[in-house]
Amino acid sequence: MPESLEQAVARRRTFAIISHPDAGKTTLTEKLLLFGGAIQLAGEVKAKKDRMHSRSDWMKIERERGISVVTSVMTFEYGDHVYNLLDTPGHEDFADDTYRTLTAVDAAIMVVDAAKGIEPRTLKLFEVCRLRDIPIVTFVNKMDREARDPFEILDEIEDKLALDTAPVTWPIGQGRTFSGTYHLADNAVRRLDSEDTRTPVNGPESDSAAGLLPENDREAFVEEVNLAREACKPFDIEAFLEGHLTPVFFGSALRNYGVRDLINALGAYAPPPRAQQADTRLVKATDSDMTAFVFKIQANMDPNHRDRIAFVRVCSGKLKRGMKARLSRTGKALGLSAPQFFFAHQRQLADDAYAGDVVGIPNHGTLRIGDTLTEGENIVFQGVPNFAPEILRRVRLEDAMKAKKLKEALQQMAEEGVVQLFSPEDGSPAIVGVIGALQLDVLKERLKSEYGLPVSFEAARFNVCRWISADRRADLEKFIDAKRGDIARDLDGDPVFLASDGFSLNYEGERWPDIKFVHVKEYH
Ligand code: GDP
Repeated sequence: MPESLEQAVARRRTFAIISHPDAGKTTLTEKLLLFGGAIQLAGEVKAKKDRMHSRSDWMKIERERGISVVTSVMTFEYGDHVYNLLDTPGHEDFADDTYRTLTAVDAAIMVVDAAKGIEPRTLKLFEVCRLRDIPIVTFVNKMDREARDPFEILDEIEDKLALDTAPVTWPIGQGRTFSGTYHLADNAVRRLDSEDTRTPVNGPESDSAAGLLPENDREAFVEEVNLAREACKPFDIEAFLEGHLTPVFFGSALRNYGVRDLINALGAYAPPPRAQQADTRLVKATDSDMTAFVFKIQANMDPNHRDRIAFVRVCSGKLKRGMKARLSRTGKALGLSAPQFFFAHQRQLADDAYAGDVVGIPNHGTLRIGDTLTEGENIVFQGVPNFAPEILRRVRLEDAMKAKKLKEALQQMAEEGVVQLFSPEDGSPAIVGVIGALQLDVLKERLKSEYGLPVSFEAARFNVCRWISADRRADLEKFIDAKRGDIARDLDGDPVFLASDGFSLNYEGERWPDIKFVHVKEYH
């Protein structure tokens, strides 16, 4: 019997891993893929990165700086579930890319280094997840090394994130004495030396646990488990799905320990594809018409083909290879002749993709970030955010004859989300905006290698940028008229106000109380 849409949707889990650099995201990703059979050998994820580096020129930046710039997706099956793991760049200069990717997931794994606790990037990414109430499963990693007391780690999660914790497993020892985990709710022991076996016991003090727990510290461990049971909240699926409580697992990604329980938890507790808000209605994953939105565009994945891949999250229905969809922004039809699934080391044509799946659609500039594709009525998904840039620069061209080419190239880079582009109302040359300086390096490298345009950047007179709006159109027009020299339009033609610094922004804000200055714009 072919799988129904309801069945296919119920099996999907689409998630990301959030963490501070070095906490173990890459290692965990490898181990998750290993479970999914997507790769044979751990280490392939990194090996793949290396191969890609050597193939692509602009990725030199990544290689030189030892960072991962690209976001990608990895699809794998494990047990009864299909997992779509969306990878995010580790470096904070590419934060806007990460935030956009988080709009396409239904759950996240938060990796915490057992010795370091909640670090700044983790906190920031958690806050982004909280805006959308994304349920979080916590993995306390590196238990095989010197670690903090587990109670202390749980307290820190509760304090810093205002998130209740429910430990599902409890570590037996730590560092050199780490020998496995005790499963609190259902009394079972999994040992580091036989990771695939879970032995039920009658309690930590029972005879059945003899030989599974460290004999010399048995009493102290029993006390700890009892305390954990008393002090911590039990796992509550409702609170988890609402984003108020996180189940916590202890383990070691490097030793491939605890990963099995983590992936099983995602299958058992994490939500299937959630409903997504569009302009006119809430779109349920099981609605029969296919809908999808673009959250990421990646160029040069295969330099031989010079292709651009738009990553879309399917929000409802079934995306079939060869179908025609409508691009809401233009109303035009788009043939989906070669949608692709991505695995750890290959891509494959996707004949059928269901709500929750993420597929790549090769195109030559037709698709932009934030675009909606539909099969039925015309709708536009809300919520792929655009963050006000922190750095504004004018692009200086070495060869002034190529100004037109530069304009086209910048437009394309902006559509891909590499930079943001603002065209001043007074007709002066365009200004590019980025969140982090590395984005400028990527822009420079790509303009040179792909368009043959060597450029440099010079400071603009502006350092702050805000989107502006007003309840009454006339108020907005009055402001724009009065400030024409400080107004620019973004890619969609929406007006922004450019200021030299925060002080003058505040000053104008007080003088023009009817104008709203916002620093996050949602694509529309
Ligand atoms: P990322 O920056 O979050 O992707 O972190 P990586 O996965 O690259 O890991 C950073 C470093 O920590 C690497 O040297 C890993 O080998 C190491 N590491 C990751 N997980 C563990 C673990 O569970 N135990 C130990 N001892 N080291 C780990």
